[in-house]
Amino acid sequence: MVRYVYDFAEGGRDRADLLGGKGANLAEMVRMGLPVPPGFTITTEACRVFLETGAPPPGLDGEIAAHLARLEQAAGRRLGQVDDPLLLSVRSGARYSMPGMMETILDIGLNEYAVLGLAKSPARERFAWDSYRRLVQMFGTTVMGVDEALFEDVLRSVEHQHHVVDEAHLDACDLIRIVETFKDVVKEQTGEDFPEDPHEQLRRAVLAVFGSWNAERARVYRRREHIPDGLGTAVTVQTMVFGNRGEDSGSGVAFTRDPSTGAPGVYGDYLPNAQGEDVVSGTRDAVPLEELRRRDPASYDELCGHLRRLEEHYRDLCDIEFTVERGTLWMLQTRIGKRTAQAAFAIAGQLVDEGVISVDEALRRVDGEGLARLMFPRFDAAGAGEPLARGVAASPGAAVGVAVFDSAEAVRRAAAGEHVVLVRPETTPDDLPGMVAAQAVLTSRGGKTSHAAVVARGMGKVCVCGADALAVDVRGRRFSAGDVTVEEGTVLSVDGSDGLVYEGAVPLVDSVVMRYFEDGGGPPAEDAEQVVRDVHRLMERADAVRRLEVRANADTPEDAARARRFGARGIGLCRTEHMFLGERRAYVEAMILAADDAGRDAALAELLPLQRRDFAAILEAMDGLPVTVRLLDPPLHEFLPDRTELAVRVARAEASGREPDPRDTALLAAVTRMREENPMLGLRGVRIGLVVPGLVATQVRALAEAVVERVRAGGAPRAQVMVPLVGSVTELHLVREEVERVLAEVSRASGVAVECPVGTMIELPRAALTAGRIARDADFFSFGTNDLTQTTWGFSRDDVEAAFFPAYLDKGVFDASPFETLDREGVGRLVELAVAEGRAARPGLETGVCGEHGGDPGSVGFFHDAGLDYVSCSPFRVPVARLEAGRAALRGVSGSDAR
Ligand code: ADP
Ligand code: MG
Ligand code: MG
Repeated sequence: MVRYVYDFAEGGRDRADLLGGKGANLAEMVRMGLPVPPGFTITTEACRVFLETGAPPPGLDGEIAAHLARLEQAAGRRLGQVDDPLLLSVRSGARYSMPGMMETILDIGLNEYAVLGLAKSPARERFAWDSYRRLVQMFGTTVMGVDEALFEDVLRSVEHQHHVVDEAHLDACDLIRIVETFKDVVKEQTGEDFPEDPHEQLRRAVLAVFGSWNAERARVYRRREHIPDGLGTAVTVQTMVFGNRGEDSGSGVAFTRDPSTGAPGVYGDYLPNAQGEDVVSGTRDAVPLEELRRRDPASYDELCGHLRRLEEHYRDLCDIEFTVERGTLWMLQTRIGKRTAQAAFAIAGQLVDEGVISVDEALRRVDGEGLARLMFPRFDAAGAGEPLARGVAASPGAAVGVAVFDSAEAVRRAAAGEHVVLVRPETTPDDLPGMVAAQAVLTSRGGKTSHAAVVARGMGKVCVCGADALAVDVRGRRFSAGDVTVEEGTVLSVDGSDGLVYEGAVPLVDSVVMRYFEDGGGPPAEDAEQVVRDVHRLMERADAVRRLEVRANADTPEDAARARRFGARGIGLCRTEHMFLGERRAYVEAMILAADDAGRDAALAELLPLQRRDFAAILEAMDGLPVTVRLLDPPLHEFLPDRTELAVRVARAEASGREPDPRDTALLAAVTRMREENPMLGLRGVRIGLVVPGLVATQVRALAEAVVERVRAGGAPRAQVMVPLVGSVTELHLVREEVERVLAEVSRASGVAVECPVGTMIELPRAALTAGRIARDADFFSFGTNDLTQTTWGFSRDDVEAAFFPAYLDKGVFDASPFETLDREGVGRLVELAVAEGRAARPGLETGVCGEHGGDPGSVGFFHDAGLDYVSCSPFRVPVARLEAGRAALRGVSGSDAR
């Protein structure tokens, strides 16, 4: 038979799935012999039944009654008894700590009789009525849905009448009146009397906790944190202890180390004569824990002893809640404490030094997301005022620059040495130059996976998107936020870590970790900051244990050099698009417009030396390491002028009786001819190579000649040719023949044997499904997981992300955008299949991933498990991928920790 209720003594920290984090850790403390008020926990399983059926599981009431009877027996007091009644707290607690669910209800069991019993003597009157007041208030708001503000109004007005600043200064008579008024408020608002029956209070509180699993705030939080909706929460019912029994009592919170810097030592806050959340609610000023030492050294020492034991036991930073009732210390909660990225690295390092955990365990306890955060400069919190607006913290870091409203202006000002913030309603590929030129990108629309966010992250640019309080007037070159209007040229500070925007320049603090990587990531100097040493130690360990290699997506020599400094062992994706842009567009146009082979070849011949120079510089920056060059992928019309613009030019000329520029007319005809309904699924990738004669040959010749040049200069170039968007082995075969022909020609002509592996991207389901055959003609596979996600789901990324992804996330179709974190079930399955069949057909086939997922901390582990040889990602993400690859290698290896 399924059990739904467990006494504390029956649980333990390993049962968090069933008892929730709070319940499991309370049980653990009981096991350790720490002073915990007795209680029991109702399982998440019971909550799941409630969520599925709308009713608690049959038998739950009976189980609760049995456990309650045991509590009562042990305490020698009963719930609802008139003289000195047993009181209870009802606390929610899911597997993962989760704000947004029902607030804890304290002092359950009080009613108009029990309150007199609790008071007993005149000295306890105030305390008893204060507790009753809290119960009516907490139960009224959380279970009965009364607006909290109505209770606060009553409190404030009584305080006002008495000229006191907070409720701690009200006496028993005031509190009696307040309780009466509170009950009136409840009746008025709900049409129902406050339930005076303690068992009804308990039952309703438990059900309310179950129901709160689906509260709006809880759902929003789960979505953001990727916590599955099906887990449910446990409910803990616990004997009350009272921190509000006078000056020799109080409540507090404490950490075993500083959670923001990681510094060792006990940290915490304490509030005398207080209960529950008083200490963190900010209504009264808490005092540092030191104050407890002064007031009650015995309790303080005891607390420090418990904190030490907890940290030793959990072998990590612990965060606890405690209460002192008339000189007796009670532990009310503990958990592994949340911490900043810096503290995570610092504490992991300290625990290694203290011999508490192994370096491997330390590596498990940090993550790539945290490392990324450490790499960005930050605003000095002390220097920031009120933000102008808030949005999605899309790409972390801090940037200062003047507001500009279009790409051209961004480029112009940046060229003149100004720092700019590009402000747009949203961005499109047209804004790319401006994004490159800007320090930060700020948009009023779109979420974490919008174009702006994705591109900015890839570039390591600061980005806040979806700041919907901004009304961006691109034509007027200004935006307004509330009643503030910001004109072009105004200085803004953009905090991509917190999603905040400020007017003016907030002072910055440099990231020492970024400097460490920029300097090549070697052993830090004697006087290096601790955080650098902590990072270095774990990076070294990650590199030592990881199996996955890390390469970079880099299109320029500068990016290649940076990637190398950041630890990339080659380029996994070198896009050639930019080699056809800028002034080179003219040659592309000429090639497309060419009337005959000779004209086309002439245009291509102009491009060749330019590309050769580009390739040589990149090969030089990555000398000795593989450089995977992808043949031109985007549709050719992307390199032609905008169709509408051309049409307008031609129409204007015609309207004014002039002859339109023949080049315009020809271009317009070409653009019209080449227009596609779905360019993503059109003439692109390998397809262009097969239908535009000379295009593949020119690129390969440029690459091969660059290789020759590097060899002659004494280098060790390792170029690879990668064919995009292959769906059929025949496509690859045809291109491969041409590549080999050109390589042979260049080798013959130069006398230098140019050998380039030729491989393919796997970015169409058909390619994955026929991987065995494709592998016969491929020296390597590189998974283009962006396109593979688009084509597997049938999503056009640019169209879906803004249009309906928020709704999809909301409805739980997926809990992370598949463009952000690899969809393991679908896309991942294709990857696994292609790796297995590809390797079966060609043992030793090299496999990697060059989609953005290669740098996503949540996806690297999957690629490790799938057996890929490498991941390739943007240079800024390389350290993140290295760290995550190390962590992935440790997963499944049981912790052979010290001690
Ligand atoms: P949260 O999940 O928000 O931390 P808790 O369940 O920890 O909520 O409860 C909120 C507050 O009530 C905490 O300060 C806790 O210490 C206090 N509290 C909970 N149970 C009891 C109890 N049995 N006796 C006294 N205080 C309690
Ligand atoms: Mg708590
Ligand atoms: Mg692609």
